[in-house]
Formats: sequence, structure tokens, C-alpha cells
Amino acid sequence: EAERSEEDTSVLVLHKDTVEELCKRKIRRIELQRKQEELFDTADDLKSKVWHLAAAVKQAKHLVVYTGAGISTAASIPDYRGPNGVWTQLQKGRAVSSSDLSKAEPTLTHMCIKMLNKEMLVKHVVSQNCDGLHLRSGLPRHALSELHGNMFIEVCTCCSPVREYVRLFDVTERTSLHRHSTGRRCCHCGSELRDTIVHFGERGTLEQPLNWKGAAEAAKMADVILCLGSSLKVLKKYACLWCMNKPASKRPKLYIINLQWTPKDDLAVLKINAKCDDVMSLLMEELHLQIPVYDRAEDPIFNLAAPLRPDDEDSHTRAVIARHAGSPKESSFGEPGGAAEATAVQGGWFGRGYGKGRKKKKTA
Ligand SMILES: [Zn+2]
Repeated sequence: EAERSEEDTSVLVLHKDTVEELCKRKIRRIELQRKQEELFDTADDLKSKVWHLAAAVKQAKHLVVYTGAGISTAASIPDYRGPNGVWTQLQKGRAVSSSDLSKAEPTLTHMCIKMLNKEMLVKHVVSQNCDGLHLRSGLPRHALSELHGNMFIEVCTCCSPVREYVRLFDVTERTSLHRHSTGRRCCHCGSELRDTIVHFGERGTLEQPLNWKGAAEAAKMADVILCLGSSLKVLKKYACLWCMNKPASKRPKLYIINLQWTPKDDLAVLKINAKCDDVMSLLMEELHLQIPVYDRAEDPIFNLAAPLRPDDEDSHTRAVIARHAGSPKESSFGEPGGAAEATAVQGGWFGRGYGKGRKKKKTA
């Protein structure tokens, strides 16, 4: 203001509406920036917050956990909206490699959640992740709702009931928004198989692995909801997960662990700004529980997986999970510099939503 000339000032006065509008926009821009920032609690704050969280976990009658991409970032699966998230990268025109996706393994957080469920402290897990890591951590299926599908599962919807095929590789190589055929066929009826992924703008109707029934029942019973590593931007739209039909005082208490702002922050009893793995290891210490170590040889996916039909042996190029690291089966796919490494993600669960955004831009 001090640097304005008389002329400047008179111009500003003359265009009062424009000035007001610009000020409003600036405030909105700053607010938006603030919401995207990743914040970290100090070590002392974190410790005292986790103490409160532990008390809530112990006292809860029906604790339900909601998880998002933030719990898988330690498994080298990037999140969507963080500074290094898939969308941020794609929007900047950078290629996102698919090479490590199938090599990802359950994180410390996945293993803690599995343990908390075993100890009956966590009743149900609702995840928006498609990476299948909850299942692979050993969490029982009845305690899990994978609302947006599972990248390792393809189904035959012509068989009744729907027939499920768990695979040891990412089945979504050829799929994208509204295109769900995986290119393989059902062993029983010969129909085309489809993936289970629910893209933005789609409505998931499959019973499994989505398990909406389990999710809605869990939310109805919940007295505490713990949200881990989710921006909640998508989850908040699912009204049944938040008991919005109950009066505010009867709704479950919300605990949120996320580095960025979420639209539920103001409703939360406690917001922890820290990495999920850091919070969970402190929490397990408070609860005097051991953190199980993921052992690939014990990964339930090997018992669930169905063998491919001979015709489908060469139906994909994605890396195959092998029970023992470095087995020849594993190394024949996805070698560094090999075809799988070089392929930037186009469709599949990983690039989901992005294609839609681009189309919109074009028509605009
Ligand atoms: Zn079939």
C-alpha cells in the first residue's frame, strides 16, 4: 500500500468490485495451498496424541478402521493427491512407472491392523485401496471391505453366484474406466472375466471384494472410527459410512491420521499429522502388542490364487508374486529395464480417474 501512487489508488477505488473479487480469490488460493501442505506434529505432540488414541482403542466397543493410499506409501505405492501422488505427477505430465506395484508388500500399518483385528480391538476395515495389501497381510475377508476393488481379483459375473479368481499378478493391465474385461476367460462357463476395480464415476455393484454390506453394518455399529492415510475426499461422499442420519452426539467418534487436511478434520476428536507407520508403531507400544512381521511365504494370496487356463498363460505381462523371493518365476517378469518397467501406466486401477479428467478438459 505504501508504494502505491495517487493514480494507483484512484484506479483501485474506481474498480472496487474487481479488487474485492481478486482479494477473495487470493484467500481461496492460500486456503487451497494450506490444504495441500503436509504437516508433521512434533515428537512430543505425537506421543501425547497417540496416548489418547490408545485409550480410545482400549475403550471402544466397536472400532472400525477406514484406510486410504497413505497407508501403502511405505510399500512404494504412491498415494493419489500428495505432493508425489499419482495425480500430481500425471498432471505435471510425468510418466508413472508400474514396475514396483506388484512387488509391494503389506506395510507395518497393514500388519498392525491385522493384529488389532486378531486381538478383537478392530472389528472391521473399510479400505479404498485397490492394492490388495490388507488381504495379503492376513486380515480375514469377512472383516474387510475393499470398496474400490482389488487389483489381484477378477470375476465371472455370468456364473451364479459370481465366481471369483484370485491371481498372483495385477489383473488390470488392459482395463480402464468403463472397460473391465481382463482378456481372460472363466474356467467353468467360458465367459469373459472382468476386474473388480471401481473407477471414479462408477458405482461398484459387486458383492465381493467390495463388501458394502459389511462396511455399512460396521459403520452402523461403530462407536469409534479411525481414519488412516485417507484424504477422505472420496470416502466422505459415502453417507452410510458416517452415520449422518444419527444426531451428532450419537455418531461415532472420529480419529484421523493423515499428513494433509481432510474435510472431516473439524469433526474429529483427534487429528494426528504423522506418517501412519510412525503412529501405528507408537500405538502398538502403548497397547503392549507385538507388531507381526510380514512373511511372504505365509501370504494368504498363495492359497487363494487360482491357476490360469492353459490358453491364458501368456495373457499378461505384469510381475508375478512368488512365494520365495528371487525364484525364476518372479524374475522372468518385470526385470529392471524390461518391458514391464518401461511401460508407463495408462489404464488399470493405477491410472484410474485420470483419463476421465483429461477427456473433460478436451470437451471444455
Ligand atoms: Zn463363469
